[in-house]
Amino acid sequence: MIYKNYPMVSRVVFGRGSFNQLDEILTPKRNGRNAPFIFYVDDVFKGNHWLTSRITLSYKDRIIYVPTKEEPKTSQIDQLVEDIILEYSELPSGIIGIGGGIVMDIAKAVALMLTNKGESKDYQGWDLIKHPAIYHVGIPTISGTGAEVSRTTILTGPERKLGINSDYTPFDQVILDPELTKDVPKDQWFYTGMDCFVHCVESLNGTYLNAFSQSYGEKAFELCQEIFLEDTLSKEDAQDKLMMASWHGGMSIAYSQVGVAHAMSYGLGYLLGVKHGIGNCIVFDHLEDYYPEGVALFKKMKAKHNIQLPQGICTDLEERQFNTMIDVALSLEPLWENAIGKNWKTVITRQKLLELYKKM
Ligand code: NAD
Ligand code: ZN
Repeated sequence: MIYKNYPMVSRVVFGRGSFNQLDEILTPKRNGRNAPFIFYVDDVFKGNHWLTSRITLSYKDRIIYVPTKEEPKTSQIDQLVEDIILEYSELPSGIIGIGGGIVMDIAKAVALMLTNKGESKDYQGWDLIKHPAIYHVGIPTISGTGAEVSRTTILTGPERKLGINSDYTPFDQVILDPELTKDVPKDQWFYTGMDCFVHCVESLNGTYLNAFSQSYGEKAFELCQEIFLEDTLSKEDAQDKLMMASWHGGMSIAYSQVGVAHAMSYGLGYLLGVKHGIGNCIVFDHLEDYYPEGVALFKKMKAKHNIQLPQGICTDLEERQFNTMIDVALSLEPLWENAIGKNWKTVITRQKLLELYKKM
């Protein structure tokens, strides 16, 4: 038996207000005046002085505001990389992503593609990246995806929605400042938070589970229940704890895998552009046959926070479109193998997935 030797985030700082240390953290990493730091910042923070005034720009450093209506595409990454190469005479000193899963994934992907030739679509998959990325930093402003800790960056390409999974993908530095999440709108807080909850359920109920992923998964699962089902936490405690739940959920799936909800949510995302967090919620709501205990808890959380999920998003789809979603979902073999076991192909039929999609 060969055990996989996983990379991790090299450095992490945690605490309310730790974002103030950004400049101090970056300064020693500067490679000279022609090698800028590029800050990708979620455009929800445009004009938000409270956050942006704490980003110190020197020499040729730039803030680039990123719209987050849509999830990142490979063509978008290639364009961002080209913009940097055309504008600067040297490679940047570092890429910093400040935002949710979208912006963090963009920062990771750009850092990788600055040192790896060709188009990002050619690196979607597992361990296709050849050269280390440039220094990259992740700063979440919403909690749940685990993108701050994972070894992937999820991209939609011309042929597939699939991550660039590699040993060079994880951030070199992460800043976990829960205060940055204070203005997240409630619905979005729930959807992205549920991404974490679903990571735990899929990891803890998967066949890939081991003591490592179980220990992280159980902690995150417990934190999610405290945050989403109890009324005992202050706002600040809830923010702190959700940020740690996200981290632990991400650690848990690092050594195991996600499952049915993620596989099917990728189908919705690819065909209809449904975003990751809400897509997982839409799918998970119908998965009582696969995750009875988790789905029951999810429904309680949904009711407690008065969340209305979109209904009937697949009602008017044609057979061809259902087939596309089913193809995308079934292509994610490790997810199914984790969820069901090695014999998953005898259990999961196209008909079953079609019936599930038709309910959504
Ligand atoms: P997101 O990045 O789409 O952000 C959701 C919304 O919240 C956006 O509208 C954003 O503007 C807003 N927002 C973020 N922080 C805010 C703040 N502090 N105040 C107010 N508004 C704020 O959502 P997400 O759920 O964090 O990320 C989803 C993305 O992450 C998808 O692209 C998905 O594929 C990816 N993902 C990646 C991994 C990974 O391991 N790399 C894991 C899960 C999901
Ligand atoms: Zn997820």
